[in-house]
Amino acid sequence: MKLVTVGSVAFDAIETPFGKTDKIVGGAGTFISLASSFFAKEQGLISVVGEDFPNETLSYLTSRGVNIEGVQIKKGEKTFFWSGKYHNDMNSRDTLVTELNVLGTFDPIVPESCQHADYLMLGNLSPQVQLTVINRMAKRPKLIAMDTMNFWMDIALDDLKETMKHVDVLIINDEEARQLSKEYSLVRAAKIIRQMGPRILIIKKGEHGALLFHGENIFFAPALPLEEVFDPTGAGDTFAGGFMGYLAASDDDSFENMKRAIIAGSALASFCVEKFGTQRLTEITTEDIDQRIRQFVSLSNFEMNLNGTH
Ligand code: AMP
Repeated sequence: MKLVTVGSVAFDAIETPFGKTDKIVGGAGTFISLASSFFAKEQGLISVVGEDFPNETLSYLTSRGVNIEGVQIKKGEKTFFWSGKYHNDMNSRDTLVTELNVLGTFDPIVPESCQHADYLMLGNLSPQVQLTVINRMAKRPKLIAMDTMNFWMDIALDDLKETMKHVDVLIINDEEARQLSKEYSLVRAAKIIRQMGPRILIIKKGEHGALLFHGENIFFAPALPLEEVFDPTGAGDTFAGGFMGYLAASDDDSFENMKRAIIAGSALASFCVEKFGTQRLTEITTEDIDQRIRQFVSLSNFEMNLNGTH
């Protein structure tokens, strides 16, 4: 197995200026696995759901090459539920409901089939659970990436700092980078955060793209300017899934290849926001992705003569 992901598999109820859903399937682990399945053909998911979770979704994940031996199904219990409402700018949202249910007592099981994976993606969960998964691998993966959020910085900063010492790549948004480093400048924030453990840092800036800090190098990937953003839920997870899926499939963590992986993640995230929940990720083909990557290349590619002052 090349890639293993741990993350929530959930029910979400979402409200945006364009509409409202009842309970639909969501969760960071779901978005990550669906996105990475476009690149990584052998991968595993570690998570927990209740008895109320639809079997069809688990079968669908299996059909996409996701090994779900590590997804526990808790009899008589309920799946994690999250509900959010987006503001008019679609950049900010309020969490309306978080019902932890099975996630409240989540004790991750890393099945034998997943224990030797070279790539490990720690989706946004309690930093203690993330560290437990690292410790339950038979060997240290070649590359460990981690997502987190301000919630954990507020209530579990010490645990978060401990887990950060064990990872290679941290993926967070600009606000979270500022909160974690107590620095406004993202370049300074990156320096401080990288001293906390991760040698590579990705700072997501929503509709303004993402920054990659790798060695002495910085790369900026734009986000595709879209006419319509329907539902941003899961865009960050989809980005991380595309990024890790690409890296695991190409097995190369050089700066040049990480640039490509970031564009792969950005392309998938640009699809994710076009419809509610995971819907769009179940419709697109690899040709669609290739076409979108071409758009990314032309969006930021330019030539210029540097031979004078004109
Ligand atoms: P994102 O839009 O990238 O922040 O991810 C949204 C997904 O994260 C939703 O599908 C939720 O089910 C899931 N989620 C929200 N809050 C939590 C939490 N506290 N722990 C784990 N997953 C969560």
